[in-house]
Amino acid sequence: MSKLSKKGPWARGFTLMLALCAAAPAWAASALPGPAFPSYANAAAVDAACTQALKGVRSRVAQLERRKPDAGWLAAYDGLNEHIEDAVGPIFLLSNVHPDKAVRTATEACELRWQDLFSSLGQNPRLYAAAKATQPRDALDAYYRQLTLEAFEDAGVGLPAGPRARAKAINDRITALSQTFDKNIRDAAAKLPFTEAELQGVPESVWKSAERDAQGRVLLGLDSPSYVPLMQGARDGAARERMWRAKTNEGGAENLKLLAEIATLRKEYAGLFGASSYAEFTLRRRMAGTPAAAQRFLAEVQQAVAARERQEVDELRAAKARDLGTAPEATRLERWDASYYTERLKRERYSVDQQAFRPYFPPQESLALVMRIIEKTLGVRYTRVEGTKLWHPEAQAYAVSDAASGRALATLYVDLYPREGKYNHAAVWSFRNGSTLTKRAPQAALVVNFDRQGLTLDEFETLLHEFGHAVHNNLSATRYASLAGTSTLRDFVEAPSQMLEEWVYDRRVLDLMKEVCARCQPVPDELLKQARVAKRYGQGLQYARQQLYASFDLELHAATAPEPMALWARMEGATPLGHVPGTMFPAGFSHVAGGYAAGYYGYLWSEVLAADLRTAFGADKLDPAVGRRYRDTVLANGGQRPPQELVEAFLGRKPSTKAFFDELRP
Ligand SMILES: [Zn+2]
Repeated sequence: MSKLSKKGPWARGFTLMLALCAAAPAWAASALPGPAFPSYANAAAVDAACTQALKGVRSRVAQLERRKPDAGWLAAYDGLNEHIEDAVGPIFLLSNVHPDKAVRTATEACELRWQDLFSSLGQNPRLYAAAKATQPRDALDAYYRQLTLEAFEDAGVGLPAGPRARAKAINDRITALSQTFDKNIRDAAAKLPFTEAELQGVPESVWKSAERDAQGRVLLGLDSPSYVPLMQGARDGAARERMWRAKTNEGGAENLKLLAEIATLRKEYAGLFGASSYAEFTLRRRMAGTPAAAQRFLAEVQQAVAARERQEVDELRAAKARDLGTAPEATRLERWDASYYTERLKRERYSVDQQAFRPYFPPQESLALVMRIIEKTLGVRYTRVEGTKLWHPEAQAYAVSDAASGRALATLYVDLYPREGKYNHAAVWSFRNGSTLTKRAPQAALVVNFDRQGLTLDEFETLLHEFGHAVHNNLSATRYASLAGTSTLRDFVEAPSQMLEEWVYDRRVLDLMKEVCARCQPVPDELLKQARVAKRYGQGLQYARQQLYASFDLELHAATAPEPMALWARMEGATPLGHVPGTMFPAGFSHVAGGYAAGYYGYLWSEVLAADLRTAFGADKLDPAVGRRYRDTVLANGGQRPPQELVEAFLGRKPSTKAFFDELRP
């Protein structure tokens, strides 16, 4: 089970500070591969299902403990993981998407009850001893065995009793803290009032039908469909500042305390294993290998973009001075100005207005377009299955099948529009992973928050990105579910998604829209061409920002384990736009509080691999032969072989950083 979200709550603009397998052909053509999504009438039903599931898994563990480490042991261990996914995968998804708050609260309580089981399981000495005693039959088994042993060891199974108990206590505490961290962001659900005058420049579609307060002011939330257009469009600097400060302080002071405690606990955890820092402890299992290697890479990125960043800041400041009629040298570019003037300059120079794309990308048709792109390239077929009861009437279900053989492969659920209490960014939950051994069909849920009026090109890119995770889950064909699809190394897992982002600038790719939407007009050539040129504009600031996030994360998890807010103020203070006193970005940085700890650099690291993977497609992004090779080597193998091997097998050469840095440098 894993959840992958896009870079930051900051997804696009740098100012957004926040943050299968083959089933038997018995499946009817309209049915969904895998079990039906469970339905819970109320919170009590979630509690009951949770209790039942815990009982079931405990008895499976007891069974496995009694089993001899024979030739089938690894498969049986994987079977336990499958059982766990089926028992709680959907419940963990529901804590982010269920419309009923009481149900969400019950799912969160369930997650905490499971944490104890997970951390005990990780330290189970009998299972560890059995895994150690197994004789792998081949290279795939040997790698699975190695990763399994490492996971047990990293959970503390080999520690003396005292430190082992402490490791478990720390794990449990961190889970609880990071859950509260996310809940503070999600449930704060702040709404800010704006007068219509303050919203001048923001598309009416964003606010016209929004709720109003007693004074008739428009109430806007911090979700991306409201936040991004306001930051990019509002002429009123004070309105932008108010919105930006609210977003930057999302999570509040309590979250700073939580993050500090989490970072301190992680350092203590690493110390139990003799590591000097949590970053060192974590990165020894990643592609990067060591914090020093990750830092060297980040320094190289910073060096590549520094000149572009400075130039962009100067240009934005000049644009602001022109706009306000002030002297450039006396004009200060504020953080809440950057997105606005970037969009303005893009409009002036390249006549690009992201809002202008919305009519060409209606949400449902955009989804159909992305599916058609994947169908053409990867040789699959998506079939909508109506009448499936899901967590919300607007959630959709699709059966994924192999185009050539008609074989049913996987299920994809899609939840497109924002609503109260829903996870408010873009992510994919791989809540069920496939296995060729047990003919288990994968299932994933893609969760986004789109404007019903249509998508900007940036949002369309987000949709493609998330689809990259969905196909990684759906088209996985690994022996073991534990190593399926997105269960790969964290500094590689974004690459398949990032590779697809570029597809949005390709004429032939976008022209597929006419196959799925007769009434849709094609995006005008000129608009697309300008968007392609404009894309480079602002990248200096964007990459510098991502580099800052990644460096902050590594520093926070370094040997000194510094206090998060002081560290952030110092690091952000050293950037050209500086730190704004009174703001607390780390309070909303849920990636770092959660599973991306000491791993945020992975977004940039995997971009290198994404750029390299893309070179294989050359001029034809829809090339079915390359797509097929990509599906068979990279996607199908999930995490059952080391990523560098998969990339090398696909490209027919060693991976290279050249494509990435060629794109980045001025
Ligand atoms: Zn992603």
